[in-house]
Amino acid sequence: MIIFDSMKILVLNCGSSSLKYQVLEMSDAGSNLLAKGLVERIGSPNACHTHKVEGKDKYQTEKQILNHTEGIRSVLDILVDPGYGVLSSLAEIEAVGHRVAHGGEFFFKSVAVDDEVIEKIEKCCQLAPLHNPANLTGIKAVKELMPDVPQVAVFDTSFHQSMPDYAYMYALDYSYYEKYKIRRYGFHGTSHKYVAEKACKLAGLEFDKAKLITCHLGNGSSITAIEGGRSVDTSMGFTPVEGVTMGTRCGNLDVGVVTFLMEKEHLDAAGVNNLVNKESGLQGLSGFSSDCRDLVDAEKSGYKRAELALRKLAYDIKKYIGAYAAVLNGVDMIIFTGGIGENSDRVRELVCTGLEYLGVEFDFEKNKGARGEDVVLSKRRSKVKVMAVTTNEELVIATDTMEIVKEQQRKQAVREEKQLNNTEI
Ligand code: ADP
Repeated sequence: MIIFDSMKILVLNCGSSSLKYQVLEMSDAGSNLLAKGLVERIGSPNACHTHKVEGKDKYQTEKQILNHTEGIRSVLDILVDPGYGVLSSLAEIEAVGHRVAHGGEFFFKSVAVDDEVIEKIEKCCQLAPLHNPANLTGIKAVKELMPDVPQVAVFDTSFHQSMPDYAYMYALDYSYYEKYKIRRYGFHGTSHKYVAEKACKLAGLEFDKAKLITCHLGNGSSITAIEGGRSVDTSMGFTPVEGVTMGTRCGNLDVGVVTFLMEKEHLDAAGVNNLVNKESGLQGLSGFSSDCRDLVDAEKSGYKRAELALRKLAYDIKKYIGAYAAVLNGVDMIIFTGGIGENSDRVRELVCTGLEYLGVEFDFEKNKGARGEDVVLSKRRSKVKVMAVTTNEELVIATDTMEIVKEQQRKQAVREEKQLNNTEI
């Protein structure tokens, strides 16, 4: 059995109609991004595949891609393409790492995929109906196309398994927790952990000792309180609906509103699910877009409901920062990440206005135009640091995948050696 010094890993992040991927060369010394890309509009006759390799022309094509298996086949084809590819053969891919949204209480850490793992991920589908089924399609497609390649599942939920019970329990009859495992799980765990560690390194803080509040703000958004390198609370809950206002999800909502609307609008469970997941949030409030960029532009043009949506989002985030500062008994650093956190100076400015009582001295000038970079946004003398940091969930997935697969290889090598010794005796 050969134990590889470096390993080429395909990382897949399958959404309901999209597929993001990266190929990374991982070694103990670090990582090297070989290629990345995106297949969009899967299921349509004009799906779009974009692929980029450092130093080579961007590849972009529109074609019919009817399902995830076809999408992954398109990815594999381009990876070995003589012009745009980075691999001489698919055999160079030694492992595939998948982002999986919900691991329920089954998974406390990343795991090697086998039939039992697939079954458990299937059981969690009802908890993350937008994400888990798509993640599973990716896993099954790889199983079909590359049956001998080991796969690893990395869960958005596992970093938050360290939450204390009083943070993760809902005040419902305890039997529902026992019967259905209804509790808060949290998501975006890979991102929260990654940006917290990275920001601490950049700011000269000790991750294991710092009190941190991470704000992952994208189409889905969540805020996490981290102490001693562990998640102690996070804003998403049983599903990714709880917490702050999101692109199309409502965030926190009085359950009385749900029962009221069920009656008035004759909604069943599927209808409510659709309402809170797909028709709410920035989209629902503004009435025209879930995209933060559109709302910032519309706000500038004086469109009041765009302003309302942005202010509501920022207000929610600010309330969580206040709450988590109380949970942590203080805070050393507030970290922004995700598409909105990394790029939207408007949202960061709205959130950080009026946080002086916490010890935040926000640098509004530095914030202006700061986009897609790792940057300190607080003044030098600020007691609480504020940073925007780019996230890299794929790198976390590749790292976990490499470690798990190498461990498997080590165990296999030991088994083979033992067998050999037994045979010799
Ligand atoms: P996902 O949760 O799907 O991964 P992302 O992290 O990519 O989402 O974030 C998407 C959000 O980031 C969108 O609301 C988009 O408008 C916002 N965004 C991206 N670039 C900018 C920008 N330059 N200014 C403001 N918002 C931005």
